Amino acid sequence: MAKQNTSEALVIGAGFAGIAAATQLAELGHQVDLLERHDHAGGRARVFEAEGFTFDMGPSWYWMPDVFESYFKKFGSDVQKELNLIRLDPSYTVWFEDGPVNISADLETLKATFNSMEAGAGARLQSFLDEAEIKYEIGMNNFVRKPAHNVMEFATWETLQQSTKLTLLKSFSAHARSFFTDKRLLQIIEFPVLFLGAKPEKTPALYSLMNYADTVLGTWYPMGGMHEIVRAMVRVAEKKGVRFHYNADVKCITDDGSKTTGAELQDGTRWNASTVVAGADYHHVEQHLLPAQWRRYDAQYWDSRVMSPSSLLFYVGVNTRVPKLQHHNLFFDTPFGQHAETIYDTQTWPDDPLFYISAPTKTDNGMAPEGCENMFFLIPLAPGLNDQPGLRDRYFDEMCDRLAAHIGLDIRPHIVYKRSFAHEEFQEDYRAFKGNAYGLANTLRQTAFWKPKMKSKLPGMFFTGQLTTPGPGVPPSLISGEVVGQEAHQWLLKLAE
Ligand SMILES: Cc1cc2nc3c(=O)[nH]c(=O)nc-3n(C[C@H](O)[C@H](O)[C@H](O)COP(=O)(O)OP(=O)(O)OC[C@H]3O[C@@H](n4cnc5c(N)ncnc54)[C@H](O)[C@@H]3O)c2cc1C
Repeated sequence: MAKQNTSEALVIGAGFAGIAAATQLAELGHQVDLLERHDHAGGRARVFEAEGFTFDMGPSWYWMPDVFESYFKKFGSDVQKELNLIRLDPSYTVWFEDGPVNISADLETLKATFNSMEAGAGARLQSFLDEAEIKYEIGMNNFVRKPAHNVMEFATWETLQQSTKLTLLKSFSAHARSFFTDKRLLQIIEFPVLFLGAKPEKTPALYSLMNYADTVLGTWYPMGGMHEIVRAMVRVAEKKGVRFHYNADVKCITDDGSKTTGAELQDGTRWNASTVVAGADYHHVEQHLLPAQWRRYDAQYWDSRVMSPSSLLFYVGVNTRVPKLQHHNLFFDTPFGQHAETIYDTQTWPDDPLFYISAPTKTDNGMAPEGCENMFFLIPLAPGLNDQPGLRDRYFDEMCDRLAAHIGLDIRPHIVYKRSFAHEEFQEDYRAFKGNAYGLANTLRQTAFWKPKMKSKLPGMFFTGQLTTPGPGVPPSLISGEVVGQEAHQWLLKLAE
């Protein structure tokens, strides 16, 4: 006989959103069980160890510290106690053909750098950031914490008035060009939207709020690695009573014809519950775990979505210290537009792509054996590409050649560990639609109530995570979990009436 378990609220997936949803529900007094198919929490922010190196598997940029601060405070803890946070300076380094530019954590120094690249650009950076700050404040206070069931949530006089300041109808690209003309400055300003979302021409100028987040609020690093955030969240969740079940792969969501009744695992275990919150990838849950009559979207809908990029990743350990690199390094030493076109227009493998290297050992020696360096390489790629034998190594060699030209060291003879990760692994590990890394692109037609809905057509079932509101990234996923936890709570109250 299959095993039967009973819970009040089930959460599927121990990524940031799932853990946040579970913690929110537990905080509101519910019994919560969280089912995760892997053997540890974190989802895209999992971690692994090999040859004495500790590799964060996904996120490496700790941005929007205010969101983490309010998260831990809300659940009775303190981010300063949970994490040993360091503000990075430089925040990051951009490697152009003619050398590196440090993006200083000190705004006055950064303005001087901008001035040295384009006369008067320092003052214009200040105006650009002042405007971005207004958007950030409006966005955080009035928009991101709404469940976005419908447009009416945003139709208060105050939000309508404020929404005019959000420059929703202007493109990011046009907005950036109204401040700067130097090609390198435009690349610096456009990097957050290009790497994480869509082409700047297709992204609303609203997203300059990300420049405010990275430049003014800062780029931080939790000692021990990004996975420390997950560990801290699990600690807080467990204190609230959330029960984590690992190696628990959900096969389907169950219902009684009018509402959800829980879920069933691949091994036949049955979980009875009054509400189910899915923090696993939306497309996977809706198209594969939910009975057909409860699906709000069809295959055509998903095919017409603009996905954010997938990535080719390499986790590399070297037995030497690597000169000149900083913690975060963007290699913009080849043309920008050409690579963007392969991601967003032609959906093909790029020639001479831009790439990113994170070297956490520049801040944290604990991430590698003594005298060694931990390196994470990332090339953003179109989602849905087919891998071919030898292709990954070709890209790796190209990155090593370009790196060597800048720093004067070929790291290849020093490699003691190397593992790659791309579309196939995103699909296998996260059931990611088209192997996407960061969910949906940040286009206007995929913002707020135009995103896949938090509320399922199946009563009592909800979605959270980077494919629904407010969107991709660690801080938005935390917010998504908190918001959906409130929604599921309302459902449980209604059931109890
Ligand atoms: C390479 C990379 C770099 C990134 N860099 C940054 C960065 O620097 N800064 C930043 O803010 N964001 C970054 N992001 C984005 C950020 O990591 C994600 O937006 C965020 O982690 C998404 O969290 P989530 O909870 O929505 O989903 P996930 O982390 O994907 O969690 C979903 C969970 O559901 C589980 N699951 C799936 N199916 C099932 C099932 N059937 N049964 C049980 N469990 C299931 C999965 O195993 C997974 O644990 C990056 C992402 C990637 C991939």
